Amino acid sequence: MNPPKYDKIEDMAMMTHLNEAAVLYNLAERYSAWMIYTYSGLFCATVNPYKWLPVYDQTVVNAYRGKKRMEAPPHIFSVSDNAFQNMLTGFGESGAGKTVNTKRVIQYFATISVGGAEKKKDEGAGKIQESNPLLEAYGNAKTVRNDNSSRFGKFIRIHFHANGKLSSADIETYLLEKSRVTFQLPDERGYHIFYQMMTNHKPEIIALMTKRSWMLLMSVVDWKTLYIFSSWHIHYKMFSKCYLFSTQAAIDILGFTSEDKVGIFKFTGAVLHHGNMKFKQKQREEQPKMLLILYENKFQVKNSVSALAKSIYERMFLWMVIRINTMLDTKQARQFYIGVLDIAGFEIFDYNSMEQLCINFTNEKLQQFFNHHMFVLEQEEYKKEGIIWEFIDFGMDLAPMGIFSILEEECMFPKASDVTFKNKLYDQHLGKTKAFEKPKPAKGKAEAHFSLMHYAGIVDYNITGWLDKNKDPLNDSVVQLYQKSSNKLLPVLYPPVENLGKLMTNLRSTHPHFVRCLIPNESKTPGLMENFLVIHQLRCNGVLEGIRICRKGFPSRILYADFKQSLLTTRRLLRNCLGPLTSLTMSTNLDTPRSSLADKTGLLGTLEEMRDEKLAALVGMIQA
Ligand code: ADP
Ligand code: MG
Repeated sequence: MNPPKYDKIEDMAMMTHLNEAAVLYNLAERYSAWMIYTYSGLFCATVNPYKWLPVYDQTVVNAYRGKKRMEAPPHIFSVSDNAFQNMLTGFGESGAGKTVNTKRVIQYFATISVGGAEKKKDEGAGKIQESNPLLEAYGNAKTVRNDNSSRFGKFIRIHFHANGKLSSADIETYLLEKSRVTFQLPDERGYHIFYQMMTNHKPEIIALMTKRSWMLLMSVVDWKTLYIFSSWHIHYKMFSKCYLFSTQAAIDILGFTSEDKVGIFKFTGAVLHHGNMKFKQKQREEQPKMLLILYENKFQVKNSVSALAKSIYERMFLWMVIRINTMLDTKQARQFYIGVLDIAGFEIFDYNSMEQLCINFTNEKLQQFFNHHMFVLEQEEYKKEGIIWEFIDFGMDLAPMGIFSILEEECMFPKASDVTFKNKLYDQHLGKTKAFEKPKPAKGKAEAHFSLMHYAGIVDYNITGWLDKNKDPLNDSVVQLYQKSSNKLLPVLYPPVENLGKLMTNLRSTHPHFVRCLIPNESKTPGLMENFLVIHQLRCNGVLEGIRICRKGFPSRILYADFKQSLLTTRRLLRNCLGPLTSLTMSTNLDTPRSSLADKTGLLGTLEEMRDEKLAALVGMIQA
């Protein structure tokens, strides 16, 4: 137990007794008072309140401007302010609040560095905010854990002039979960935009389309025939038309041409139509025996159609990002940037496929980066400073990741199958590392082929269909047809795709600030904290270890010159405020007015001199 003065402490690294229970108790106490932000040593933790608290408006922004960390209660704005010329990284489990906090950081910069909210629209960061509904419509979906889950990673950079004024912004996206276009697990949904269109509210851009093409577009509204979006008829009514309005507003602000706008809606409709196609298998004998014609069975055809739909969707998304960047580029000088990284957190479901491995792998890399920064670099710093320090090993071993290269390899073999892939995995990893194991069978558990011991826990993966997913066979003749399309947008959809390697290089070149987002319960209930869930996250994501090292180490660092200066300032303050009493022992009543004490002692002059001497000696020592 910590003494009561540590109740609801803002920085948990200050606690006398630092243990899991104390950290959890403190987070829970603060959460019950809706204090959702808490520092823990070098980083900030936040617990999702699941209700909007009045803590993000302009007055709060103003209150945090230029404030040091300890001068105001913990807040995402404080982290943002401190990150000026640095970088910020947010990560945590799905539904923990990463995206919401990312938006707050952008909001903060959109308003502080341009001088007032009214000007923000012209500036990069403001435009990023306004483009957000479009990215969310196409990149977010309802999942079991989060009604508005981002299914892509993003790295937003806000660029500044040398004088700290905002210059422009840009955005990079990672790993859009394109499989969601054609397939969702039970209780999950496809991307928001589909449901927005299904509200059957004719967007204004309809004026730009012929009536026939609109009718054709909307003819997919035949719920019963939609095989890939089978749960739509239950959900679509929950989407109000205003979502479509805000998507449209974003499209307008970003200055897409009329042709582009029509293209966006047409292609989204086209993706729906792809999902609406049905195929029937003919008996072998009935197939026309024409040479050179490639025969595919019903499932292969379904697969290729799905692959086309996913590819159009993904390329359209990436194209939108490029367009957003063009719009955000003010062509002004860029001296510094602050980057905000928001990616999907660890995903551990009953059934985990390649998408989960990609997301978890990225998180593993980020965790490694976090550990490295927090623990390794920190300790190296001590060494450099010549501090006597015993190096603590915080375990950098991560799950083996030769899995992707084996997958790549297998995809080159025409005869490869799920079985050969599995055998290769076992050959190379089983028994060779503790992190790779055969899944432990249990009743009612989904089938799985291998288990990986990730930082966040053990995940069982099912490899069914990975070869196809990785190859994603696009029908060449259809792609060629696309390239010749009379619709100008279609041939343009071939942008470069960013990769994880580049992200990590980017991150390594910056000074990171970490925000740990914690999910308090799985039922999205405001104010309810499930202890086990939170403790699990604290253990897995290094929060506790982070506090430990921070306490073992030296949480504050200050340049020698600054230290000397602050010592001198302290001396002056002591003199001014407390007079000669400072050199007396603590038992002296400091509240006693100076004059009356002076009368009693009569020795003030001597004391003053003494104290000055002592301070001078101390300063002398430091200077030496
Ligand atoms: P993540 O990106 O980590 O998966 P989100 O940021 O999308 O999670 O948060 C999930 C949901 O939780 C949001 O849609 C919102 O309803 C709620 N939420 C998250 N953070 C906050 C917050 N600071 N205040 C109020 N609600 C929040
Ligand atoms: Mg998110």
